[in-house]
Amino acid sequence: MELPKALDLIADVPDFPEPGVLFRDLSPLFADAAGFKAVTDALAATVDPDVDLLAGVEARGFLLAAAVGYARGLGVALIRKPGKLPRVAGRVGYTLEYGTATVELPEGVVEPGQRVAILDDVLATGGTVAATCKLLEDAKAQVSGISVVMELGALGGRSVLEGRRVEALRVC
Ligand code: AMP
Repeated sequence: MELPKALDLIADVPDFPEPGVLFRDLSPLFADAAGFKAVTDALAATVDPDVDLLAGVEARGFLLAAAVGYARGLGVALIRKPGKLPRVAGRVGYTLEYGTATVELPEGVVEPGQRVAILDDVLATGGTVAATCKLLEDAKAQVSGISVVMELGALGGRSVLEGRRVEALRVC
């Protein structure tokens, strides 16, 4: 399947999880074998050749990082929400539009000096990915780039990540 057709499988859901938010639902894309493959291949092509490890952001980033990791022969660091990990190597809190959130890194997955590429489904305000960059850099890893399926351009995530390489398969 051509990439644009695959990306068209993403459903726009108004007013979820709260009024005024247009939620980009990748569920139909993940469920479509040809669409999932097209997006996996396209994301895999954005990852630098000298990357040592991928980082997938919970939860949809896990699927993407796992698929790209398999395609590229790379392992995956699971970047988790709080309360899930038995051993936490690092933790970074950040501010959301309403409230706060935290990302955690498991122990024993990242080594100092490793080059890590971050994968997620949607880049919105950039807060989640920026916190993930800090988490990895606190662990003395190097962030080689960020790859997402969809970037919501109006929310300014790219400017929060200024100076970093951000690859988006579609910018809305
Ligand atoms: P942000 O930290 O604002 O860049 O938000 C990114 C995270 O929230 C990603 O992990 C996305 O899965 C999720 N997210 C934020 N906004 C949306 C949206 N409009 N549609 C789908 N997912 C979203």
